[in-house]
Amino acid sequence: MQMAMLMQVRTRGDVRRFAMAISAIVVIASIVLRYLVLPSDLAGATLIPGSMMALMLAAPIAYAVGQRLAAIHHLSAQLEHALHHDLLTGVCTRISFYGRAAQLGAVSCAVIVADIDHFKGFNDHYGHPAGDQALRHFAAILASNCREDDLIARFGGEEFVLVLRNTTLTDGFAAACRLCQRIRESPVVIGGRARPLTASFGVAALPPGGAIEIAIQQADRALYRAKRSGRDRACVYDLAQDAGPLPLTLAAE
Ligand code: GH3
Ligand code: MG
Ligand code: MG
Repeated sequence: MQMAMLMQVRTRGDVRRFAMAISAIVVIASIVLRYLVLPSDLAGATLIPGSMMALMLAAPIAYAVGQRLAAIHHLSAQLEHALHHDLLTGVCTRISFYGRAAQLGAVSCAVIVADIDHFKGFNDHYGHPAGDQALRHFAAILASNCREDDLIARFGGEEFVLVLRNTTLTDGFAAACRLCQRIRESPVVIGGRARPLTASFGVAALPPGGAIEIAIQQADRALYRAKRSGRDRACVYDLAQDAGPLPLTLAAE
């Protein structure tokens, strides 16, 4: 409880209020202590100088502690934000994604795994900072074409996972095709020149109460097929076509 109150020290105003409260407590405590331990005439005689001294010591120390508390609050807010948001693109982190996916409730969802095509080549050709710009651009297109309550996470590198709430597999596929088209039609502008970007998408159903890991695995299989069959497209998970072990890498293609 006390800790929670201390962590409320956020702004300059909070720091001043904290310093005043602590100083007042110290001054009152010093007066009470003086009357408890000294004879009353001596306590009365030292009341003003003693209280002034307590105030002069307590105020700057309390102010410095308040400033530290405000700095700690600021840092912990930044850490909390970094835990939940990918620093480059601003979408959810994997950790935050799983936390939010666990609270989806009993609704049918579509899961989409999206991966930028030949991104290594893009980096090699235009440079890593341009690659970063392409990642931000890609995430912004995903976000601006999804609903507010859909989940979008960067799972690593140039791979993103989306969960579309209250969405059938058919509608999820349509959404993935739409995203694919938007990416194709929205080149990244680097140094004033438009650079084309495409991505591939795999789609799977997440039934009410179903395991998100399984839906992601299935969407990943469908994504693999989208890559194999030429990239720049979306595929829906199909047990007949997507069963069997996945090769370790697509790099040989
Ligand atoms: P595919 O079409 O099969 O997906 O090929 P790809 O080249 O996109 O896939 P690959 O896995 O070979 O390469 C992924 C590249 O993504 C390699 C890596 O340098 C790049 N990458 C990963 N994270 C970042 C990042 O944060 N910034 C930049 N600029 N590049 C990144
Ligand atoms: Mg890729
Ligand atoms: Mg990849």
